[in-house]
Amino acid sequence: MKIKSAIAGSLPKPHWLAESAQLWAPWRLEGEELREAKNDAMTIAVANQLRAGIDVIGDGEQSRQHFVTTFVENQSGIDFKNKKTMRIRDRYDALVPVVVDQIHRERSVFVEDAKFLRTLTDKTLKFTLPGPMTIIDTLFDQHYGSREQLAFAFAEILNEEAKELVAAGIDIIQFDEPAFNVFFDDVRNWGVAALERAASGLSSKTAVHICYGYGIEANIKWKNTLGDEWRQYENIFPMLAQSSIDQISLECQNSKVPMELVEILRGKQIMIGAIDVASNTVESAEDVAKVLREALAYVDAENLLACTNCGMVPLARDVANGKLQALAAGTALLNNELGL
Ligand code: ZN
Repeated sequence: MKIKSAIAGSLPKPHWLAESAQLWAPWRLEGEELREAKNDAMTIAVANQLRAGIDVIGDGEQSRQHFVTTFVENQSGIDFKNKKTMRIRDRYDALVPVVVDQIHRERSVFVEDAKFLRTLTDKTLKFTLPGPMTIIDTLFDQHYGSREQLAFAFAEILNEEAKELVAAGIDIIQFDEPAFNVFFDDVRNWGVAALERAASGLSSKTAVHICYGYGIEANIKWKNTLGDEWRQYENIFPMLAQSSIDQISLECQNSKVPMELVEILRGKQIMIGAIDVASNTVESAEDVAKVLREALAYVDAENLLACTNCGMVPLARDVANGKLQALAAGTALLNNELGL
């Protein structure tokens, strides 16, 4: 069976939907115009993936302004008007919404997007949701008084949402948990359990994406403090290896993660990040194949997926399209080499 390619999640938005190449850019339209424009943007995002030759298709996260906030603002129990300042992942301060009451799911957030996505292609579809630990890391809690309890409250809601997405035809549900790379004790004590709760009972494949963040300044500064070898994954892989999660998405291109750490996850499906999303340089097919080849020492070919390090929303559209093509071409190169 051939090695397949997939993107981690986001792609840049067209400038008529929101300012391009910018994180968290506000919408340029509203109401029915916005709804229609989001669907048009999703159609383009899917077409670009298909044209490049990507195998596992996503919506490019065209309908969300922020990968956490857009999900959270559709739940009750949270005050978005009186925000408070909080330190995010120990790296930068941000004004965040406040949890003021029990959290309930008001409505499905992405199910209409998933239904529309399903009409665009017959290929395997992946849909991304923020993970419980990463969600609570961007909220100021005034009600639960326990990070664990708040995370499990979100895990319940995420599970309801995920079940609706699967019913709409999604094949892989991915939870984004960059916070796993920071709060190792929490991951051990309840983080993986909360993730498994969010993923429980799903008839789809389940995945978790753990990266070192978008290529924004605060993250680049943080990476510079991590030394010559990034061994953060070593703290969390043993728990993930024993978890019920099927696929794990990692940052490997231009990262200082020692590839041998992937061995800890032997038996899991691994999405190896072979595209650097913090650089405007478009990789060659050989750059992509090189990282995948290195990974093959620690993951069986049938469990290897080629992926991007993280989302590509901060990139210019032509750069992102170039990287999509490099990802697919590098994967094809390796498949040829292996005679797959
Ligand atoms: Zn990421």
